[in-house]
Amino acid sequence: MSVRNLTILGATGTIGVNTLDVVARHPGRFKVVALSGSTQLEKLAAQCQQHQPGYAVVMDAAHAQRLQAMLASVAPRTEVLYGVAALEHIASLPEIDTVMAAIVGAAGLRPALAAAHAGKRILLANKETLVMAGSLFMRAVAAGGAELLPIDSEHNAIYQALPREFCGDLAACGVRRILLTASGGPFRTTPLAELAQVTPAQACAHPNWVMGRKISVDSASMMNKGLEVIEARWLFNAAPAQIEVVIHPQSVVHSMVDYLDGSVIAQLGNPDMRTPIAYALGFPARIESGVSALDLFGKNLSFEAPDYARFPCLKLAFGALASGGMLPAVLNAANESAVAAFLAGRAGYLAIPAAIEHALARARSGEPDCLDDLVDADTQARADADAYLADCVV
Ligand code: NDP
Ligand code: MG
Repeated sequence: MSVRNLTILGATGTIGVNTLDVVARHPGRFKVVALSGSTQLEKLAAQCQQHQPGYAVVMDAAHAQRLQAMLASVAPRTEVLYGVAALEHIASLPEIDTVMAAIVGAAGLRPALAAAHAGKRILLANKETLVMAGSLFMRAVAAGGAELLPIDSEHNAIYQALPREFCGDLAACGVRRILLTASGGPFRTTPLAELAQVTPAQACAHPNWVMGRKISVDSASMMNKGLEVIEARWLFNAAPAQIEVVIHPQSVVHSMVDYLDGSVIAQLGNPDMRTPIAYALGFPARIESGVSALDLFGKNLSFEAPDYARFPCLKLAFGALASGGMLPAVLNAANESAVAAFLAGRAGYLAIPAAIEHALARARSGEPDCLDDLVDADTQARADADAYLADCVV
């Protein structure tokens, strides 16, 4: 067994921490070569002390200087770098074979693209990469000879339920539909009239999963599922009509593949991201993740259809996917702005879909020619959403 050399982008986040937890269970199997973080310097320094990586990357010079000082005695051989170019550098180092892409939001796109061009095995948690730039990214993966393993639990489940030799043609593999499960989040049964008043703390209190704050709000609004529908479109070359969202409040079935012969193959497990992370880290071997065995006794599994009146963000995402071009990137950027405003107390919960709709209505259609087109659309969408939110009374 050869040692796998890892870069972990977003090491200080929930996915990053879970990745390091799995890695620490397999001494000698993985070598952590590079880590990145942004604001949580103490955490990053502690990770560097434990794993002694060659590189640690943060986003600006001031943080880099502080981190350097913190590492002087505990990880003196770790080189501290900063900025987007440094992220691209550690995502494409020749000695790296595996890149965990776990930065949150649009900031994760450029380093993920760098890993694709460099032909790495990419463990993709940053779904925004595929939402913003699905076509561009998938072409970079093919051109660079990279290998893509999904970390998002639903897509990881689908990957496991598809034939191992899946060639990118669902129909040729006898697949009728992909059934993407969703928990429905903390507001699945909240009276609709109360949604206008819900707080960030309520939105972040996910019933089944512990996640970063942005994705927790996305789960509450089901924008997370909308982004995942777009993610599935690119990962599995699926037409929108081949993807169905199924609410499954217990989060035990992580998604399913429905075959033409009537078979439905599902992947089940406790809701713990270490399972998909371990699957992708060890692939094709199955390795210990620290997740306890699923106890099915006493569990009732239920399924229901999503209600667009309760979850308008899901409808907006299906609409953006159908329109294609730049609209998924606009959807993503406007959502990031609106969620940030909601988390900061500058906007109410219902302003999130309203701001996204506002930005989508103003967006330019058409296919992006290059990354700059997408970056421009992203910037414009944030400005449109922010302008709308500035006029909202909280
Ligand atoms: P967190 O918010 O917990 O972590 C985000 C990471 O990205 C942190 O390391 C953070 O650094 C870093 N970061 C934040 N902003 C920037 C920036 N502008 N530039 C560079 N680095 C930055 O997020 P999660 O771990 O929850 O999620 C990560 C990704 O994985 C997201 O795309 C999410 O959608 C996806 N995902 C997460 C799941 C989960 O269960 N958490 C499930 C499926 C997908 P710091 O903290 O030091 O500031
Ligand atoms: Mg998911």
